[in-house]
Amino acid sequence: MEKIDFNCIFCAIAAQRAPAAIVYESDGALAFLDIRPVAQGHTLVIPKKHSRNLFDLDDLSGMAVMHASRVVARALRAAFNADGLTMLQSSERAGGQEVFHYHQHLAPRFIGDGLMSSEPGERRMHWRARTSPSREELQAIAAKIRAHIKDD
Ligand code: 5GP
Ligand code: ZN
Repeated sequence: MEKIDFNCIFCAIAAQRAPAAIVYESDGALAFLDIRPVAQGHTLVIPKKHSRNLFDLDDLSGMAVMHASRVVARALRAAFNADGLTMLQSSERAGGQEVFHYHQHLAPRFIGDGLMSSEPGERRMHWRARTSPSREELQAIAAKIRAHIKDD
């Protein structure tokens, strides 16, 4: 088996040297399912070019991830009949970042889903408990989303 020598897991995924359930790809960005989703269809959108986080993101990568996020958002809404969507980006440990390659979380939302806490006075966003679907389950969900991608 080919040895993966990338230090950054998301660079490895972008180079197709590590597996991922891919939802959408463009020249500058890649969207794939989070391995520990907070909701079915929870997607991560990354620039193919490595940036640590929002503090060092270049404009071209920013445009590429926003384009991909908009395309994927519409596909998520169509695939799951979602009422809405939450997009989240964390920068540095203090901001809640765990993987240090820029990424935007996209989570389909439903009225009353309780996905994020809305306690009065609570400013931090809390994700609900995550699940750990199998690789096969993630691939099936990705295929369902891909069927709704309209790249225009
Ligand atoms: P952060 O807290 O940095 O915004 O989020 C990192 C996210 O990456 C987490 O939701 C985590 O589940 C996800 N993640 C970590 N490692 C992998 C991986 O190897 N593959 C995929 N698809 N997601 C990952
Ligand atoms: Zn990287």
